[in-house]
Amino acid sequence: TKMDMEEGEEKALTIYFIPYLAPGHMIPLCDIATLFALRRQKVTIITTPSNAQILGKSIPLNQHLRIHTVPFPSHEVGLPDGVESLSAATDLENLRKIFQATTLLQPPIQHFVEQHPPDCIVADFLFPWVDELANKLQIPRLSFNGFSLFAICAIESVKAHSLYESASFVIPGLPHSIAMNAAPPKQMSDLLEALLETVFKSNGIIVNNFSELDGEEYIEHYEKTTGHKAWHLGPASLIRRTVQEKAQRGQQSVVSVHECLSWLDSKPDNSVLYICFGSLCLFPDKQLYEIACGIEASGHKFIWVVPEKKGKEDESEEEKGKWLPKGFEERNIGKKKGLIIRGWAPQVMILSHKALGAFMTHCGWNSTVEAVSAGVPMITWPVHGEQFYNEKLITQVRRIGVVVGAAEWSSTGIGEREKVVGRDSIEKAVRRLMDGGDEAEKIKKYAREFGDKAKHAAQEGGSSHRNLTAVIDDLKILRDRKLRV
Ligand code: UDP
Repeated sequence: TKMDMEEGEEKALTIYFIPYLAPGHMIPLCDIATLFALRRQKVTIITTPSNAQILGKSIPLNQHLRIHTVPFPSHEVGLPDGVESLSAATDLENLRKIFQATTLLQPPIQHFVEQHPPDCIVADFLFPWVDELANKLQIPRLSFNGFSLFAICAIESVKAHSLYESASFVIPGLPHSIAMNAAPPKQMSDLLEALLETVFKSNGIIVNNFSELDGEEYIEHYEKTTGHKAWHLGPASLIRRTVQEKAQRGQQSVVSVHECLSWLDSKPDNSVLYICFGSLCLFPDKQLYEIACGIEASGHKFIWVVPEKKGKEDESEEEKGKWLPKGFEERNIGKKKGLIIRGWAPQVMILSHKALGAFMTHCGWNSTVEAVSAGVPMITWPVHGEQFYNEKLITQVRRIGVVVGAAEWSSTGIGEREKVVGRDSIEKAVRRLMDGGDEAEKIKKYAREFGDKAKHAAQEGGSSHRNLTAVIDDLKILRDRKLRV
């Protein structure tokens, strides 16, 4: 009734979301912010001008969901205007500049929050200073980092046993015996662990996953070993129902929705391999060449996303394609066997098409949980960060994917690498999933089942839906308690 609604509005929480400036952090946290707004809480996302512009086209802004912008310090760090996301980095030097600029956002954000204090702040863990700010204002803080809880459990266990740079080891103390074949770089682990320490001081962590995929055993393990609360509210991407909503997630796609859909519509069910390595990863040409050879040799249809941001704008047409074997485009693209998307692809829209058969992924958590939500099995190719742990969850624990055999754990996704994954390994992994056979059928069946579980979790009565109700109730209790004091 009208009265109930008014009462609901009156009691609504004012929540600020501060997403980090990288698609893998921004996209899921803004979808989660939208979930809170759909429950009629008063949500404000704090970000910078060019991110605000992208978001304005991607999320449903209204009286419950607003954006507050703070200036991006381009000039202070020597970046051109409009470069406001880690995904724009083309080399290590401008990656560092963009990172540095994000640390300079503290004063203007802090100023705004102090002038207009909310009931709660949800911030990315890459803004650890929010801890002090929330304490000062005596408001609850939830943290977010875009990781699976499984990966956080693995990171914590590796830390507790100092297992850095050992080539192969079993992660101790986890509910499953997880054997690693690559060593986490010490520098990365140090950074992540310091940031996680601040996460554990928050009132809880929001996880873009559903509890069935991380598994109750890992949620229990996390809560027991860290004493910290985890809220599984995902998969965030499932908030997007229509083709348009899926296509407009993140940045502006370089292909038209119509073109992409009609290409997919013309293909049989489960026949297309989708290849994408997220928003940050840049492979050297020789690796791209091996991928091209591997997928061509597999004989399967494909959509391959290759970032168009090599930073060499004066590159000639010939140089641009030098990572493709001779005649590749004539043989494959011409025959409608494959599509190469050079730049941002409408990933969630592609993954949810029935023509999709498998996803070759770098195991970034968003890509992983998006594939799971769509019931698509994976070919795992982790590159950096916590991706090697995600691979284990997908292939060893839940058995919804096969490995390509990547063993080089880099510090970033950018730049030269020592090892190349060869065309034979790529062909073999693609065939293992897409040629059919008992093993492939089983993996596909499990993947479909997890897709159903993901959708169920996000629906009314499902685990994530219930968790969202619970976290809102909890925050209201904290606020009301404070009001009474
Ligand atoms: N993404 C997309 N189109 C692209 C590349 C990436 O829509 O061409 C989206 C993808 O759906 C995911 C996010 O960008 O939501 C990437 O996050 P992920 O955690 O997978 O990897 P990261 O980019 O952080 O390495």
